[in-house]
Amino acid sequence: MAENKVHLLKDDVIGKISAGEVVERPASVVKELIENAIDAASNRIHIDIGDAGRSLIRVADNGEGMNAEDAELACLRHATSKLTDMNDLEKLLTLGFRGEALASIAAVSHLEITTSSEKGREAAYLYLEGARVCAKRPAARERGTTIAVKNLFYNVPARKKFLKKESTELAMIMDVVGYFVVSYPEIEFKLQHDGRELLHAPVNMRLPERIRLILGGDVAAGMMEVDFSSHGYKISGHISVPASTRKDKRSQMFFVNKRYVRSKILSDSLQDAYKSLLEKGRYPSCVLFLEANPAEIDVNIHPTKLLVKFDNEPALKGSISEGLRGMFDRYKNFSTVSMPQSDPEKKSFVPISIEGTEVQTEFKYDTAPIAPGTYQTLSSGIKAYAPEGVSGRRCNMFQVGDCYIVKVEKNEIMVTDQHAAHERILYEYFSRSARERSGSVQNLLFPARIDLSYSDSILMNKLTDNFKTLGFDIEHFGENSYIIQAVPAILKDRDIKNVVMDVLSDLSSHNLDKIDPVEEMIKYASCRGAIKAGDRLSDEEMMTLLNRLAECELPFTCPHGRPTSITITVDEFEKRFRRK
Ligand code: ADP
Ligand code: MG
Repeated sequence: MAENKVHLLKDDVIGKISAGEVVERPASVVKELIENAIDAASNRIHIDIGDAGRSLIRVADNGEGMNAEDAELACLRHATSKLTDMNDLEKLLTLGFRGEALASIAAVSHLEITTSSEKGREAAYLYLEGARVCAKRPAARERGTTIAVKNLFYNVPARKKFLKKESTELAMIMDVVGYFVVSYPEIEFKLQHDGRELLHAPVNMRLPERIRLILGGDVAAGMMEVDFSSHGYKISGHISVPASTRKDKRSQMFFVNKRYVRSKILSDSLQDAYKSLLEKGRYPSCVLFLEANPAEIDVNIHPTKLLVKFDNEPALKGSISEGLRGMFDRYKNFSTVSMPQSDPEKKSFVPISIEGTEVQTEFKYDTAPIAPGTYQTLSSGIKAYAPEGVSGRRCNMFQVGDCYIVKVEKNEIMVTDQHAAHERILYEYFSRSARERSGSVQNLLFPARIDLSYSDSILMNKLTDNFKTLGFDIEHFGENSYIIQAVPAILKDRDIKNVVMDVLSDLSSHNLDKIDPVEEMIKYASCRGAIKAGDRLSDEEMMTLLNRLAECELPFTCPHGRPTSITITVDEFEKRFRRK
């Protein structure tokens, strides 16, 4: 008879396997430790990171603490103080409940716990290697807990190998800390990396200031406060006014019962609320909190609880987008009919502005008649164009479909995609000026200030020299603020702040060690700096664009290889009309 093949796994193997589900990378450890500190009712949480979490992740809190026995128990799998039977799951308001985080972390690191549950009482110190207790002794500490995770993945080389480079792992840690900073404004957070302070949010720092710190002053300045209830859900937080949007969803944060989640239902509801108010490819920013009866949601469908399931998703989606749309209408009324300061409703619609000045927005509604010769976006999303008299044109060119320049010649018509053409022109211009250091630079009469998020500011510090190569002179202006002093002359009429922020955002998804940042920046700056579909051009602008395109080395395609122009000859007309 053949030998049995099936056998039970040894405990340490089980430990490492399940650790993989909860502890994917340093950022997941940071998340679990902060959650435990919050569940222990702390109002001060300090996080120290070494080598982006590879050598050290230390989280110290001033919460309930544990006695020596509990501290040891807490490191066993399925040891928790938060849940006893299945019914508790329905009422759950703590962040943790499965009792597996500490055990999982302990299984793949050297773990130190110092904790004290009562003032004046002896604290406990515990040291574990790969979940095995190696030392325990009394210690001294104020009430609260410090957990230090050292040499993460020392015994799981495969995991260690899959860690990304330091700046990427650190960025993920900063994202995680950011979620807690905005969802727990009553808690002090401090984050240090290799001894350098990256973030400090003191207890008295309120939500708008925290959003400014995490998403950057520019995003925060374009946001309005929302607050409403619908179908048993309460929704509150800050969302962008429709005129202030971004090129991706990086600054969207959703929280369900204060837990950060990724949720398609929620991001779709948000996008729906802006229906017809946004240009294609633009997304709102948000820090949106949903409060729901814990019995109506399931947070137990994902190992790190990043996903949630709602009982009635279509109803939820409808009520969120309707509710937010209602907020826009009231915001619109507020922004045109200035309400008295004492109006209790006003509070909800004032765009965030920290200095106390009101933020100007270009939030327009289609009430005015459309002026001849102009485009206007109606709230239905349709671009309306009132044609000018066609007679008296000085030029054999016109623009159709918001995007195409049609040039009529004697024996052909040439149709040019204005964005693709401009992108090609800029691409060749930047490539040449970077190579020959020949680009002309325009000093800004009114330098533009940009207020970045604390993580984008780290990226900006790395890229200022590269920006300079292209002709952008950007200076650090304290904290996370920068001043754009000069720009490539070729872009002087573009919305320069948006160009810089979009290029930064494009580059944030790259590993800077693996790409040529200048090369990549040239591509992005050409795309972001180029005129877009929908931009109205004057006759002169159309003419200049086509002339410049004709001077390009490779005028026929944009840098992505799409055609810039197509030509239809009379010969072809004749074939189509079956004359030939
Ligand atoms: P869970 O959070 O799901 O209960 P964990 O493994 O994260 O599981 O933690 C196990 C237990 O350890 C918690 O239930 C809690 O009682 C205790 N604990 C962990 N961290 C702390 C802390 N910072 N302060 C006080 N108690 C803690
Ligand atoms: Mg926990």
